Amino acid sequence: MKTLEDVLAKPTLYDVVIVGGGPSGSACAYWLAEAGWSVCLIEKKHFPREKTCGDGLTPRSVFQLAEMGLEGIVATNGHKYNGLRAFGFGATLEMNWPEHPVFPNYGYTITRFNLDGLVAENAEKSGADVLNGVEALGLLDATPGRDGELVAAKGVVVKDKDTGATAEIRGRYVVAADGQNSRLGRDLGVTRNRNWPMGMALRGYYTSERHDEPWIDSHLDIRDTNGQVVPGYGWIFPLGDGRVNVGVGLLSTGGAWKGVNTTKLQEYFVAQTAEAWGLSEETCLGAPTGGRLPMGLSIGPRVGANTLTIGDATGMVNPFNGEGIAYGYESGRLAAAVLGEALLAEDPTALALYDERLDAAYGDYYKVARGFVRLISEPKILQACVGLGLRVPPLMRELLAIMANLMSNDAKGPAEVGYRAMSRLANAIPAQAWEMVFGDGAKA
Ligand SMILES: Cc1cc2nc3c(=O)[nH]c(=O)nc-3n(C[C@H](O)[C@H](O)[C@H](O)COP(=O)(O)OP(=O)(O)OC[C@H]3O[C@@H](n4cnc5c(N)ncnc54)[C@H](O)[C@@H]3O)c2cc1C
Repeated sequence: MKTLEDVLAKPTLYDVVIVGGGPSGSACAYWLAEAGWSVCLIEKKHFPREKTCGDGLTPRSVFQLAEMGLEGIVATNGHKYNGLRAFGFGATLEMNWPEHPVFPNYGYTITRFNLDGLVAENAEKSGADVLNGVEALGLLDATPGRDGELVAAKGVVVKDKDTGATAEIRGRYVVAADGQNSRLGRDLGVTRNRNWPMGMALRGYYTSERHDEPWIDSHLDIRDTNGQVVPGYGWIFPLGDGRVNVGVGLLSTGGAWKGVNTTKLQEYFVAQTAEAWGLSEETCLGAPTGGRLPMGLSIGPRVGANTLTIGDATGMVNPFNGEGIAYGYESGRLAAAVLGEALLAEDPTALALYDERLDAAYGDYYKVARGFVRLISEPKILQACVGLGLRVPPLMRELLAIMANLMSNDAKGPAEVGYRAMSRLANAIPAQAWEMVFGDGAKA
């Protein structure tokens, strides 16, 4: 990895400066560097670094990693699994990932400690300058954007966290990939639509003899010590290295998690699964840590005169399943393609294509997902859906394909037909009525 001194030694105007070396920033840097553009990727931590996550890669993530030439190394360092095992209201169902013309029918688990550095290193091998331990403090020469646009900037002001030195890094374009609490995003002028769902999750590691099971487990009915169902869901993801990742998540649809203590929720969930998985104080590897999951493209605007937001910084997490790694890679790649077009044509207005392509790829899907989340945040509806779904395996398998966004666009299977019907319904309902029922807007 380069040092800040190396980068400053040659006065450079980068084509693109990217802040944040997680999945979205590293993928964006990789695709830009592969296309021959000069890129500086700025990450405030030193890799390998911890990142609170369930550590689960679905087939969509595996596909993007394979596209970046990284599947082999992920396979060596991670744990391959076949699908999802769902539990709820007395029923259990094992579901293989569906067969798909593009995406593989398997996933991996791998800690973010081990994964994220690989992707950043890959960007560096392709020619990007990757800085570790360097924090972006703010925008350089910011100018306000037009109505509905991000602020524009000539680069970022950074601080080397080891030496304390500050410097300016200049770029034709600036990308915010600094995650769910995006400081750069706030400087760029983004806001989150607070009527749309938001996730909150907590995870911890345990040693377990069952660390190499071929399923990731999802529990849809967490119970308190009195056996009462409490709002939230739990997961156990085997890591294949002697450990399992154990976590809980909550969905907020208009403040629904007020009063729910996630630490208590994690305690209830661990108690519920302790015997089956050997979870105890002795096998616990440390206190759990948590984070937020901004979802459904809830953060905007996403484009300015020479600026873009990607990944969690623009709310890319899939509301159906809380998955954000694949959508970080995908939005980073999409942004890289548009930036390449703008650079080639020397036409910054081409950035508007990013908004259009994101809406085309995810707008309808995320709108349906946001409606679904609002419905199942009603405990009685959740219980009815899960209770019925897990007892009708074919139905649940189709739902899995929809929830993991693994449908084939032109296929005629039940998942595709069902989803297209939901999508048509979502778009047929007048915007005002949709807003009243789902607290949502017409446009994604
Ligand atoms: C508890 C939990 C469990 C989850 N489980 C899963 C899961 O199993 N599978 C899944 O697909 N998704 C999961 N997610 C979601 C997933 O973690 C995120 O969607 C994903 O990490 C988003 O990638 P990103 O690159 O946008 O942001 P991040 O991964 O957050 O990366 C942002 C990077 O920017 C850096 N940064 C921040 N500020 C600055 C700055 N000022 N200067 C320089 N660098 C900066 C940070 O250090 C970080 O490395 C989970 C999230 C949580 C909270």
